Amino acid sequence: MSCAHTPIDEDARLRALSEFDVVAAAPDPALTHVVELAAQLLDAPTAFISFVERDRQVFHAKLGLDLNETDRDVAFCSRTILQDDVLVVLDATHDPRFRDNPLVTGAPFVRFYAGAPLRTEDGHTIGTLCLAGPEPRTAFTDRDRRVLTSLARLVLDRLELRRSTIAQRATQSRFEHIAGTSPDGIICADASGRITFWNDAAERIFGHVANEVLGRSIDLIVPERMLSGHEGSLRQLADGAPGSLIGRTVELFGRHRQGGEFPIELSLSTWREGDASAFGAIVRDVSDRHAVERQLFRLAHHDVLTGLLNRSVLHGQLTASLAQALPTAVLMLDLDGFKDVNDGHGHAVGDAVLRQTAERVKACVGSDAVAARLGGDEFAVIFPDMGDPLIAIVTAEAILAAMSEPFPVGGQLLRLSASVGVALSPAHSDEAEDLLICADAALYQAKADGRGRYRLFTPDLREAAQRERICRDGLRNAVERGEFELHYQPQVQLSDGALLGAEALIRWRHPDHGLIGPAAFLTTLETGQHAAEVGDWVLRTACAQAEVWRRNGVPDFRIGVNLFGAQFARGDLTETVSRALIETGLPGANLELEITENIILRHDEVLVGALRDLRRLSVGVAFDDYGTGYASLSLLKRFPLTRLKIDRSFVQNLCEDPQDAAIVRAILKLSRSFGLEVIAEGVETEEQRRRLIAKGCETAQGYLFGRPMPALEFAERFGLGGEGAAKPAIAGRRGSR
Ligand code: C2E
Ligand code: CA
Ligand code: CA
Repeated sequence: MSCAHTPIDEDARLRALSEFDVVAAAPDPALTHVVELAAQLLDAPTAFISFVERDRQVFHAKLGLDLNETDRDVAFCSRTILQDDVLVVLDATHDPRFRDNPLVTGAPFVRFYAGAPLRTEDGHTIGTLCLAGPEPRTAFTDRDRRVLTSLARLVLDRLELRRSTIAQRATQSRFEHIAGTSPDGIICADASGRITFWNDAAERIFGHVANEVLGRSIDLIVPERMLSGHEGSLRQLADGAPGSLIGRTVELFGRHRQGGEFPIELSLSTWREGDASAFGAIVRDVSDRHAVERQLFRLAHHDVLTGLLNRSVLHGQLTASLAQALPTAVLMLDLDGFKDVNDGHGHAVGDAVLRQTAERVKACVGSDAVAARLGGDEFAVIFPDMGDPLIAIVTAEAILAAMSEPFPVGGQLLRLSASVGVALSPAHSDEAEDLLICADAALYQAKADGRGRYRLFTPDLREAAQRERICRDGLRNAVERGEFELHYQPQVQLSDGALLGAEALIRWRHPDHGLIGPAAFLTTLETGQHAAEVGDWVLRTACAQAEVWRRNGVPDFRIGVNLFGAQFARGDLTETVSRALIETGLPGANLELEITENIILRHDEVLVGALRDLRRLSVGVAFDDYGTGYASLSLLKRFPLTRLKIDRSFVQNLCEDPQDAAIVRAILKLSRSFGLEVIAEGVETEEQRRRLIAKGCETAQGYLFGRPMPALEFAERFGLGGEGAAKPAIAGRRGSR
């Protein structure tokens, strides 16, 4: 008998025992059978399996034994597990190791014992298979030992089998539980592609219930048009070749029970089941994500309002077209007077007009053209592979014609027009950004030429466009840095030259170019974003200045302030004016707003109301440059005006040109019959002064009485000392100076 005691790691041994999870379990009939076999073959009245735990041994599948367990320290088996082979005790009463053992001295009065260790594959002895009896034996042969050892191995095999079934069942139930609650479809198939597992999510995704698909080919989730390719890769998988899909997540299309295709995200795995391969797929329906992605793509590439492409996409397409050295035409389009629509009718109407514009542009250009909204009311169309200026021009004319049709918006018909600039590559430029600049320059010229027309780019426009851009950039700075200032031109009584008031005229104190007159920047300012803001500044500054001079000696001093269209368009002119009056303390009667015919014609509806309100504040309203336009008499009646300003051009030739003299006379007569005051502009000579007096004109302004001058000079000249200029508190942008 060998006593090769292996040093044992008791914790590991106990862990191994607990992994079998058998101690408390009902005996497996197979185990009971082995135990019976052992008793029979080796002729013992008692046989059992003993699992040796930390402090006790527990009997299992026992035969001929009343006990269920004993303390470990009395157990024969606790010795057996320490050795590699069978422990045999022929007569315990004669064995010094056992003769005092309570199991020997008391029930069950053991005399004979033979136990074989149950040793796992990992080398842990978890218990024994034993025989015992109350009668001593004379022998336990080698053959007996071998039988017992073999039976012990049988027990162990059985235990191992049980353990792996339990483990498998746990794995299976874990898998099924996870698969049952997984939001992703989980599908398994065997080597021939027959579906072996199909979870609830797969049902939801593909529309088939598990019962319908189990055993059927996996092909049923593959769109028909892809079946051939799919088969190829399936076969690869089945053959055990590491398919290109394994371990990766790929996007494919799935086929719904109803036949429709939808995008899926698929991760494939494969494993061996016995000799065959099996594979599983985790499938996610990514239709929603695709919809979101499409939406994001649209947002990134399209103009939300009109659905046209946006500037960056257009730029990209143009660059691509030019890179291929394709002749390319660019049309740039801008709505005329759109700002008035927006300001006058609100943004909803403005948006509707823009949408309709986009539709009309699309309808005018072919499907090869790329139409985009660049922002605001600016659109562009590129024609890749189209270098014929004639076609470009015909298209431009078609667009202009389409734009001249009235826009039906909210129950009314709005009339607009558009201006178009055309540039061609390679004639004008072969670089995208530059070609767009050329088209823009042509567009600008089209607008300057009188709107509602197109212009083809010519090289001289480039310089003009550059100047314009520099001016626009400079103006933005001017607003921010407060580079504007006001000059004042006296208005006097013709008879004696007495000072009545002044007209405030804007100047730009440019950091590089010095003082710049309004002719150089007014158009740019008026078409830009800052006109209203600058206009408000002029108003506040002029009112403040006038109030100073009014208090310094000319109580009836009247200040003339020119308005921008943008100030009307904003719709809050009355509030702006009354706020300026309140803030500066200037009485309304000491302010005269000058408006031109242009403003009147373009803001007709809003204007009458606003002017009425202003008249209620006693603010005067002068019709500037009167006589130069087409203002009808009815206009004079309808508008609450207080004064006509005879335009400089009539005064200039008053002495030489009888026709101009007649006009001046007519205006003077007209003003009398409408009860309006009148002032002559641009009086430069004594002769002009006399003639005007002779015709009954009482007031005037002009170089004869004083050029527009800075406030300080004005104050000195007319003895309005004390505080010379208005406090700068309200000059410049509010709070920015
Ligand atoms: P306007 O309102 O007709 O202003 C009178 C213009 O005639 C001024 O030109 C003035 O300097 C000039 N002028 C006055 N007397 C004579 C004269 O005897 N002979 C000649 N040859 N010219 C004379 P300025 O200052 O260059 O302004 C030009 C235009 O710019 C103004 O015409 C006005 O329409 C506009 N403007 C000037 N300041 C403002 C402003 O603050 N706001 C707005 N909205 N427009 C302004
Ligand atoms: Ca004026
Ligand atoms: Ca004028």
